[in-house]
Amino acid sequence: MNLILMGLPGAGKGTQAETIVEQYHVVHISTGDMFREAMAQQTEIGIKVKSIMDQGNLVSDDVTSALVKERLAKEDVQKSGYMLDGFPRTIAQAEALDEIASELNEPISGVLYIDVPVEKLVERLSGRFICKNCGATYHKVFHLPKVEGTCDVCGAHEFYQRDDDKPEAVKNRLDVNIKMNTPLIDFYENKGLLHKINGDQDIEDVYKDVQSVIKDF
Ligand SMILES: [Zn+2]
Repeated sequence: MNLILMGLPGAGKGTQAETIVEQYHVVHISTGDMFREAMAQQTEIGIKVKSIMDQGNLVSDDVTSALVKERLAKEDVQKSGYMLDGFPRTIAQAEALDEIASELNEPISGVLYIDVPVEKLVERLSGRFICKNCGATYHKVFHLPKVEGTCDVCGAHEFYQRDDDKPEAVKNRLDVNIKMNTPLIDFYENKGLLHKINGDQDIEDVYKDVQSVIKDF
């Protein structure tokens, strides 16, 4: 079984990924982890990636795809299948992946897209606030202090929000991701590989829907 897992920030992709790996033992390949590993191990591509990132540049599709190819060729993937997370992010990467998958004879079984309405994502992502005194973190919807306006940890009464967590910043981040995701969703829909999962429900119910899609792969 070879999967691609997609979803906007805050959609709950990480949680679903963990459970899928536990149950199906596919190899979880996150491009972020892959970059970090390659840099730490100082592989040929890792050294290249590091110098690109050190200069503050984005890693090109070619380099990213080469790294993915190197990883998918490894024995554990050949044995247990893969679950890609954070790749592909562009159509060029998706096309490269098609080639890699066919060269390695590891075709994509399906693409899971964890779908959550944008306004729910804004609510999830912009709710975080922090105690000014001790740094304890809370959430307006999911984790309020036990006594309103009072930090559970230190009893202080002043809180703040990081700029990144403010609704405007969150909306901008989501917009950027939506612009990147939309062509990919169309790409896989046209291939008949896309499976939308309703991510706007309890984590357990999201996973039930994931399972019912995966069982047909
Ligand atoms: Zn505190």
